[in-house]
Amino acid sequence: YQEKIKKASQLIKNSTYAVAFTGAGISTESGIPDFRSPGGLWQRFRIVTYQEFIYDRQAREEFWRMKKELIHQLINAKPNNAHIALAELEKLGIIKHVITQNIDGLHQMAGSNSVIELHGNQRGAICLDCEKLYEMDEVLQMLAEQELDLRCYDCGGIIKPTVVFFGEPMPEKELIMAQQIANQCDLMLVIGTSLQVEPAASIPRIAHKRGAKLIFINKAETDWDWIAEIVFYGSAGQVLKDILSETKNAT
Ligand code: NAD
Ligand code: ZN
Repeated sequence: YQEKIKKASQLIKNSTYAVAFTGAGISTESGIPDFRSPGGLWQRFRIVTYQEFIYDRQAREEFWRMKKELIHQLINAKPNNAHIALAELEKLGIIKHVITQNIDGLHQMAGSNSVIELHGNQRGAICLDCEKLYEMDEVLQMLAEQELDLRCYDCGGIIKPTVVFFGEPMPEKELIMAQQIANQCDLMLVIGTSLQVEPAASIPRIAHKRGAKLIFINKAETDWDWIAEIVFYGSAGQVLKDILSETKNAT
């Protein structure tokens, strides 16, 4: 293990444009369940797609029931060692951007400044009719006082969280930025993602095709482990903490 940490830190120091690509697994140590691990959200809830959310009132109620149960976990979560190590690597001038599939805002809370959110964020909600934006506080209030099919105070339209649903296109600006970064980086740390959600999962593949080196950190194997230079199977918090201290020691 220590040899791999040394090798990873070497790759990091030799890089000129290192970036991170993260998924739900980086936040499990903050108490937020991921989708596919044992005990993950998929074993407990059905995923409501964008189309269902728009056209099916029951699906909306189902979604908000899940949200109501999970929201306090989400808003009370704190960054863990993995988020903190990435923020510190950015301050050292090593990591240039964090591209994330997460919606929890923990990278920003840890102090990362350049964060690209591919799947939106859970900071608020939007009315699908008049596009009025609601802050998290207001959504919490709506959840407390309204029926589960939340409606806009102004126009009665459907309220949808500002997260990207399955079946919903990704925000174009963020996707293009992520693709550009993947084209230019020479090292990508891929952390806590099963790489099963497209097109997000194409980002590490682009980096690989362009000759960047990849370091994977996951609990379980992925279908794409073979494109990585180094693969860690373990806790993202522990591995990144070790990589960070090795990198600091050696400089
Ligand atoms: P996923 O659930 O498909 O995969 C999680 C990956 O993280 C797995 O490979 C697992 O082995 C690994 N993992 C779990 N705990 C880990 C740990 N402590 N250390 C290292 N690795 C760990 O997640 P995904 O690929 O990100 O896809 C899920 C989608 O769901 C994403 O698009 C994301 O938008 C969304 N989501 C986000 C959050 C969040 O914001 N925290 C939580 C759940 C789901
Ligand atoms: Zn409205």
